[in-house]
Amino acid sequence: MSTQRERQRMIDDIESEIDFTRNMIGRDHFEPRVMAAMRKVPREEFVPPELKHAAFDNGPLPIGHGQTISQPYIVALMTDLLQPEPDHTILEIGTGSGYQTAILSQLCRRVCTMEVIPELSETAKRRFGEMGYDNIDVQTGNGYLGWPEHAPYDGVIVTAAAGHIPPALVEQLRPGGRLVIPVGQPYSYQELMLVEKDREGNSHTRNILSVAFVPLVETIPTAGNDPR
Ligand code: SAH
Repeated sequence: MSTQRERQRMIDDIESEIDFTRNMIGRDHFEPRVMAAMRKVPREEFVPPELKHAAFDNGPLPIGHGQTISQPYIVALMTDLLQPEPDHTILEIGTGSGYQTAILSQLCRRVCTMEVIPELSETAKRRFGEMGYDNIDVQTGNGYLGWPEHAPYDGVIVTAAAGHIPPALVEQLRPGGRLVIPVGQPYSYQELMLVEKDREGNSHTRNILSVAFVPLVETIPTAGNDPR
């Protein structure tokens, strides 16, 4: 099958899953600009070479170091929940392969992304350079405390499951901003949550869907235990 047809199959599978989950996620389609980014960013460039044949399957894939590239439907859902706008600066915790980062880079002004495993962050950074994604800042380190230098953010997205919502990430959100994060126990029950910070600075949290993510490293970084 040609790459174009494979990519269309991925889009069709995302659309079927939106339809299947419409009652849970409270929507029957995602924003056209989100789906356009899903169509455009070549997922096959973000998976290990030996798994390229599976790059358009609607499932997660291993990327080494015990981590995974998320399922395309979940990437599209999290992006749609975040509502990125062209003038937004977004913070992402958990760069991984960089696929979600690349999708966001198409939809907003700037993406600041943090990855705790140096090999993954270096590979992603090189990839962004080679592929011409020039509005992404990558930092190697533990994102539990966020990235205060560029705060406040219009949106924050966490692509690893936290036991609780990290307070620093809510603090670094501007009023009116959104945080999308899977919360729950490692390899057990997890719920994708949407936190909306209102104009007065109060947060409102909604559960969206049961999900399965690799765990977020939650140790509070200090000079001694931060792997940077
Ligand atoms: N969005 C990525 C998902 C990668 S899996 C993709 O689609 O490829 C989640 C990633 O979060 C892993 O690479 C893991 O190393 C990273 N991670 C876990 N805890 C972290 C933390 N505290 N700070 C930064 N990255 C973290």
